[in-house]
Parts: sequence; structure tokens; C-alpha cells
Amino acid sequence: MTLVIPFQNSYADLPARFYTRQTALHVRAPRLIRFNRDLAAELGIAEVPDPELADVFSGNQVPEGATPLAQVYAGHQFGGFSPQLGDGRALLLGEVIDRNGQRRDIQLKGSGPTPYSRMGDGRAWLGPVLREYVVSEAMHALGLPTTRALAAVETGEQVYREAGGLPGAVLTRVASSHLRVGTFQFFAARRDLDGLRTLYDYTVARHYPHVESPAHLLAEVIRAQARLVAGWLSIGFIHGVMNTDNTAISGETIDYGPCAFMDTYHPQTVFSSIDARGRYAYDNQAHVIVWNMAQLATALVPLMPDQDEAIEDFTALVHAMPDQIEVEWRRAFGRKIGLAEATAQDAPLIADLLARMVEGRADFTNTFRGLIDGTARDQFLDRATFDTWEPLWRARIAQEADPEAVMRAANPAFIPRNHRVEQMIEAAVAGDYAPFERLLDVLARPYIDQPDAADLKRPPTPSEVVENTFCG
Ligand code: AMP
Ligand code: MG
Ligand code: MG
Repeated sequence: MTLVIPFQNSYADLPARFYTRQTALHVRAPRLIRFNRDLAAELGIAEVPDPELADVFSGNQVPEGATPLAQVYAGHQFGGFSPQLGDGRALLLGEVIDRNGQRRDIQLKGSGPTPYSRMGDGRAWLGPVLREYVVSEAMHALGLPTTRALAAVETGEQVYREAGGLPGAVLTRVASSHLRVGTFQFFAARRDLDGLRTLYDYTVARHYPHVESPAHLLAEVIRAQARLVAGWLSIGFIHGVMNTDNTAISGETIDYGPCAFMDTYHPQTVFSSIDARGRYAYDNQAHVIVWNMAQLATALVPLMPDQDEAIEDFTALVHAMPDQIEVEWRRAFGRKIGLAEATAQDAPLIADLLARMVEGRADFTNTFRGLIDGTARDQFLDRATFDTWEPLWRARIAQEADPEAVMRAANPAFIPRNHRVEQMIEAAVAGDYAPFERLLDVLARPYIDQPDAADLKRPPTPSEVVENTFCG
């Protein structure tokens, strides 16, 4: 039986300078780790036996209708501009129209070198592949826009990293597109106005068909990103590499590298080993996204006939973004304390709790979930820190119709805790995939109490704490 993927590719029809056609590296012994059957059904992909899936999703066999290519883009990495990046270890196989009529990219990650690999080997090892699989699927179940994981395959080959030889793997990622802020920057930086126009038209048609001008596109991306980043903050997520090439035009979370969820709440939390100065710390994310949108604005200016006027208009849109984030933040955190529609007057009550959580070294997830069952106070070093806030909160939610239902839908019981992700990777490297399967299973229903999984709610013990995450 051969795997049939109903490709309807459009990116491959763009001008040649948008990408490089490239085939995947042949690997020795592909073995399927996991295939996401629900997602496959959504994409119109019928099931075939595992060895066939392993062949296709390792890159060994090019499925009919695929047009494998590496996309080119640019980007600001930690604030410094690289005029040319691109898929250094990924290949877009093509696109399908899903059962909701949405166009989705199917991309292999870890499939070998491309002309954009620079010093990299084009490969991925098992750890980051499983991390992205678990965290992106958890993000989806938590209700945030994100790329998805369709398949994970072991290659049967070794990948060499600082730690030595590690098992190689390939992730198949599904995205509503891989268009990035950096894709626009690529054409703008080269003063390729035709390319920029083509990209603009393609983006509007694919993502924002109602958009009528570059200013309108900018406003839509700003809106999507304001909501996304407020959503991240509301679940304690730290992306870790918010470079402009990792900021999607669609508003989906993309590129799960050194990302992590916070355990103990502190706004300056950083996990990424390469983020020494905390540029992408938890609460800096709300500032960085505005900076990234300013870069998108700059890249869109050449499309406008009157550039001075465009700069003025675009600047106004970017300057209005912090207020939008504030509104989204208040909405999201309001729900976390049981308010269906928080107003500006509620913001101090939320901020007060967060300040007390810092003082009390409280676990972010368990404190908010604990508001439902009365265990929030147990999360604080000194329970009095919580107890003096509680009456103020009770007085406020007395005016709400059903605060418990609101909190149950906003405060997950389960997040992919970093130490559990690391333990899962260690087990998988040793050949035991049970923790991987279990994490996926529990995290598919993060808002449901699952008494059998109480161990996955527990914050790390001091010896379990993971201080640093790596790009892989
Ligand atoms: P990131 O910050 O993880 O999005 O990566 C930045 C750039 O480096 C992207 O263009 C990646 O394609 C590329 N890259 C990351 N890891 C590798 C690798 N092992 N081999 C080749 N290119 C890589
Ligand atoms: Mg990237
Ligand atoms: Mg990456």
C-alpha cells in the first residue's frame, strides 16, 4: 500500500528565488515512533502500515505530488539582522487543503542539509523532535494557535552534538503556513520589490483574504500576535527564540526550540542556554513581539506609494500594540481568576496576585488551578501571602455568574513540565517510549482532572529542576 497525500501545492509555483528545490537525505533505518492519526484524518491522509509511513516521513520516499523545497527567509536573531537564512534542516513537501477548507503545509524537519544550512548538519536528534511533538500538541490542546506534529521517525543514524553521538530523528510539522516576518524581510532587504509584492499577494490570498492594503495586513498580524503572546503569558509559556524568522504571519506558535513552561512564577524566567541576557524572558515577550511587528512594518513600507505617509501610519499601528496586548492579557488573566470579562479596574487585583506569587515562590499552574479547589494557598511559601488577597478576590467574583466554570476552562491542570519532558527524552533515548506516549495522552486533555496523572501536576523537586534548555 502506498501513502496518498492529496497535495495541492502553491508555494512551489512562486518564483524560483523564493526557495530551492531539494531532496531529503537518505537515512539508513527509518522506524516510525508515532503517527498523529487524528491530524492525518483532518488532512485527508489515509492510513497505511508503519514501515510505509516511516519511509515517507523520514524523507526516504518522496510521496506522489510532493515538491520538496527549502524556503528562503531572513531575520533578526537576538536583535542582529541576517539578510539570508532559510530552511537549514527542513523541507516543505507541499500543501494539502484540510477538511475545513484550510491550506496546510506539510514539512519535514531534520531531513538533511540544504543550501541554507550554513554550518549546521541539517539534522535533528531525538530529543528536540520529541520535545516539539509533545509541546506543540499540548499547545493545541491548551487552545492556542500552533503548528502541529503529524509524525516522528527515528532515522537509525547518529547525530553528533556537543554531548556526543545521539539518535537521529525527523519530525513532520503541519502549519497553516511557514510564512514569517523574516520572509518579508528577505525581499525588503534585497530591495526586490517584485518579490515583495508577490509575497504580499500570496500572503493575503492565503491568510487574510479580506485585507485591502499593507497597513491592513499589518493590523491583522499585530492583532493575531497580540492575542498569541497574551495566550502564552496566560499559560506560563516561554518561547525562548522570538527571532523575527520564528514569528509566523499566521499568528501560530512556531519553532519549538529551547521553549519551556514555567514552574515557579517569576516574570524574568529564562530557560534558553543561548539567551544569556534574557532578551526572551517570560515577560519580555510582550515587548519583543512589538519590536518584531516594527520589523514587519519596516519590510512592508516599500509596497506603499507614499513612503513617508506609510511610515507614519505603520508607526501608529505598532505604537497601539502594547495597549492591545494589555487588553488581551487582562481578558486572559481575568478568566484565570474567574472573571468572564475583566475590565481595567480588575487589573490591579490580578497584578496583586502575581506579585504575591513571586514573593511566595508559587507554582504558576498549580496556583491558578488551585483557585478552583482551594489548594492555591498551599502553593505559597507563607500561606498568609495568599490569605490576605483571597477576601478581595472573593468579593469580586461574588458578582460573577459562574466563576468556577470560567476558571476550569482557563487554568490547565496539566502543562508539559520541563523536567517531565527531559525525563521523557532520557527514557526514549534508552528505548522506552512509554513516558512519551503517556505525556501525549494526558496533555491531550489539559483542563480535565486526571487523578491517575497526579504525578504530572507536581512541580520538580530541587534535584529534578531543569535550568537550561537547548536549541537541538
Ligand atoms: P532557529 O533559531 O532554531 O529557528 O534556527 C535558525 C536557523 O538555523 C534556521 O534557518 C534553521 O534552519 C537553521 N538551523 C538550525 N539548526 C540547524 C541544523 N542542525 N542544521 C542546519 N541548519 C540549522
Ligand atoms: Mg526557526
Ligand atoms: Mg529551530
